[in-house]
Amino acid sequence: MIVAQAPGRINLIGEHTDYNLGFAMPIALEQRTTVRFEPDESDRITLESDHETGTSSFRIDVKPGDVDGWAAYPAGVVWASKQAGLRVVGGTMSISSDVPIGAGLSSSAALECAVLLAINAATDQDMGTLDAARIAQRAENDFVGAPTGLMDQLASLNGEADRALLIDFETSEVTPVDFDLASSGLALLVVNSNAAHQHSTGEYASRRESCTRAAAILGVDSLREVQGLDVLDRISDDTDRRRVRHILTENERVLDCGVALTAGGFRRVGDLMTLSHASMRDDFEITTPHIDLIADSAVRHGALGARMTGGGFGGCVIALVRTAALASVTRAIEEDIANAGYPVPTIFTARAGAGAAVLS
Ligand code: ADP
Ligand code: MG
Repeated sequence: MIVAQAPGRINLIGEHTDYNLGFAMPIALEQRTTVRFEPDESDRITLESDHETGTSSFRIDVKPGDVDGWAAYPAGVVWASKQAGLRVVGGTMSISSDVPIGAGLSSSAALECAVLLAINAATDQDMGTLDAARIAQRAENDFVGAPTGLMDQLASLNGEADRALLIDFETSEVTPVDFDLASSGLALLVVNSNAAHQHSTGEYASRRESCTRAAAILGVDSLREVQGLDVLDRISDDTDRRRVRHILTENERVLDCGVALTAGGFRRVGDLMTLSHASMRDDFEITTPHIDLIADSAVRHGALGARMTGGGFGGCVIALVRTAALASVTRAIEEDIANAGYPVPTIFTARAGAGAAVLS
């Protein structure tokens, strides 16, 4: 029996920057997805998840379109592995997870990466985290059909306890940055709105298209090549112009945040989070009134800063909060949400956890 685990992630800052070859700074979560894999000599994988009823099954020569629903993620990993020339064996997989699903904390990458590690362990194949991340991303993009960037998989595979990961998506370089909030009397509060980020695939794709269109107008391959905000004048479409402004300013905020974290400047980190939220709300337009209310409430009641995390249109808000104020901030957010008539949130504190690994 092979046991492989991969964590979900929280993106601290840098939203929609990955596919624009910019910067982001996620942490891996302590919450993770576990795959127990019993390989056999068959040509099928049969799997079950503690989040789903019944079993699913597919042949290891599966193709895009053959499998839908949640099993498309593991099936996509099998397909993308074979596309990359790797060996895959059949068997049974039993999956369990404590990563919230559909909450913007990347249960999808956790599932993909855990399945990939389990298959590689069964076939004695070893690969670097970048190659593994690309296979998992290909599963999500070309098999499941979600046009997401590389951040989630890189975070899940490279996570380190008490470290954030500064990722440069042009070079795929991952630089760990100290993120031990507890020793500074701080905590990362996660407010899961419990509004699933539904309908987000079409909106995500349309944001991506805006960025591609603007890059073409500016004559660059990616928005990473754009220096300074002056170029915005060359984009006549007001919506596309604001989309680009988010990407350019967000990249700057990620780099500023790395500097501030290294210097222990947590007030600045908080301010950058709040500025990032405003940019996602006003320029990239990926927040919702529900999510805006939670972020505003956190800051109004004493958080150093707060922002939505993840691709948008629901999911979670993260807030940087002094440990001493955790209880009062939590209570105040709960009250504001209840008074506005939104669903009861799930609120917890998160720490940076270790990356994906094969346990046995
Ligand atoms: P997020 O990655 O933010 O959690 P996504 O929409 O990208 O949200 O991925 C969620 C989907 O991934 C679920 O709807 C389900 O299909 C699949 N999934 C993730 N984790 C599991 C799991 N442990 N068991 C079954 N399906 C899962
Ligand atoms: Mg996902």
